Amino acid sequence: MRNYGHFIGGKHVAGQSGRTADVFQPLDGSVFGKVALATKAEVRAAVENAKAAQPAWAATNPQRRARVLMKFLELCARDNDKMADLLAREHGKTIPDAKGDIQRGLEVIEFSIGAPQMMKGEYTEGAGPGIDIYSMRQPLGVVAGITPFNFPAMIPLWKAGPAIAAGNAFILKPSERDPGVPLMLAELFIEAGLPPGIFNVVNGDKESVDAVLDDPDIKAVGFVGSTSIAEYVYARGCANGKRVQCFGGAKNHMIIMPDADMDQAADALIGAGYGSAGERCMAISVAVPVGEEAANRLMERLVPRVEGLKIGPSTSADADFGPLVTSQALERVKGYVDIGIKEGAKLVVDGRGFKMQGYENGFYMGGCLFDNVTKEMRIYQEEIFGPVLSVVRAKTYNEALALANDHEYGNGVAIYTRDGDAARDFAAKVQVGMVGVNVPIPVPLAYYTFGGWKRSSFGDLNQHGPDAFRFYTKTKTITSRWPSGIKDGAEFSIPTMG
Ligand code: NAD
Repeated sequence: MRNYGHFIGGKHVAGQSGRTADVFQPLDGSVFGKVALATKAEVRAAVENAKAAQPAWAATNPQRRARVLMKFLELCARDNDKMADLLAREHGKTIPDAKGDIQRGLEVIEFSIGAPQMMKGEYTEGAGPGIDIYSMRQPLGVVAGITPFNFPAMIPLWKAGPAIAAGNAFILKPSERDPGVPLMLAELFIEAGLPPGIFNVVNGDKESVDAVLDDPDIKAVGFVGSTSIAEYVYARGCANGKRVQCFGGAKNHMIIMPDADMDQAADALIGAGYGSAGERCMAISVAVPVGEEAANRLMERLVPRVEGLKIGPSTSADADFGPLVTSQALERVKGYVDIGIKEGAKLVVDGRGFKMQGYENGFYMGGCLFDNVTKEMRIYQEEIFGPVLSVVRAKTYNEALALANDHEYGNGVAIYTRDGDAARDFAAKVQVGMVGVNVPIPVPLAYYTFGGWKRSSFGDLNQHGPDAFRFYTKTKTITSRWPSGIKDGAEFSIPTMG
């Protein structure tokens, strides 16, 4: 049994609150460890450590800061198998999927190594008589990230990489469901040469989140999680004068045009709908075939594929997906399937009864497939976050487009078609932040930014890419004039350069 505390000032620190939460191993339902839940005072201790360490780190050359991240990449490669195994055990996803989680995080570390370039300002010589203007980017100081359970490596790294590379000190409040990997990342940062206090992990629940949001020394908070908490964190953080960006839930549609390659579309739906047991903010949870004929051809292909999904323990080499994260998550997802049946949707494949032989206490369920879902149903409107795909039949392209546009979430969307005109029109008109054309999970690479629209995100800037450096830095603009350009006497009107 593991006992997870916090990581403050470069070392593991035991929790003081006496409050803990169980960390499960979803593959067999056992309790894998206990995680300490921090008090406000413990969050404050992390902030004080971070505050003391930050000025020296900010004064370190950006290329030297980048070199620490280069070393960190090497160490993560060395420990990749160990980290993926731990991630899979605490989360439930398969080992290859866990490696993808780590990889997509490390790509943002690679991008952050470009900090010397990203931190550059601008310069105008001779903007007025003897006057030069230049701008610079400076770190904010102590900043924080609050992250969800479903990508315990990727999202902490998306937040911490750019923040640290820019010269900030970082406080991570990871999900209490899978804290093992974030603590491992903290150890590797120290081994890579990051000064103690620059990357801290405080484990906890609402109490620690509120402490982060209320702490006057934390200047910016990046959050990822469900929409209701995202909205709460955004409101409370902004009310306290912080810079805040929050990324929330999703209901990602895939539009399948009649001219699409139906086998490709069906394969894409299977991977994007059921991979990681549907516990991805970019999972496809709604398929929208256009026209009855396309819908029938799609269903013919989908049904046997869903029935043939291989569910297995996270450590199994050939499982398509593993268990859900907790028994509560499992019950919630099954509950949505019950709701869908009551609402009149047609459950074509029912995975609720699935039991994994030899792992009867694991949090498994099989893939579920609904046909004839309508936009009035809760299973269409709400995020289920499980291996459940809903098919909504649209008569026309415009009806399909309107579905995606009218939905309250706008994280990701995809269109499958061979028609360039349709794809182009869709990319231009759809009210969603990340769009795939014959790509089911259009997560942008690290040098672009990631972010949804509508109620999938709160705040102005996206995650990773150039926006991450904008979010974790402030701009200063200097207007300078040297004595030879200064005229005698006071000037009382607003200075102009004319
Ligand atoms: P969650 O909202 O339950 O938890 C996210 C974080 O908030 C955790 O650190 C948690 O400890 C904290 N938290 C939970 N309840 C809180 C409360 N009442 N007050 C303050 N803090 C609280 O989310 P989750 O279940 O861990 O993650 C799944 C959700 O995250 C899904 O909705 C998914 O779509 C979303 N997600 C979004 C993105 C994105 O980029 N848009 C990426 C990944 C996941």
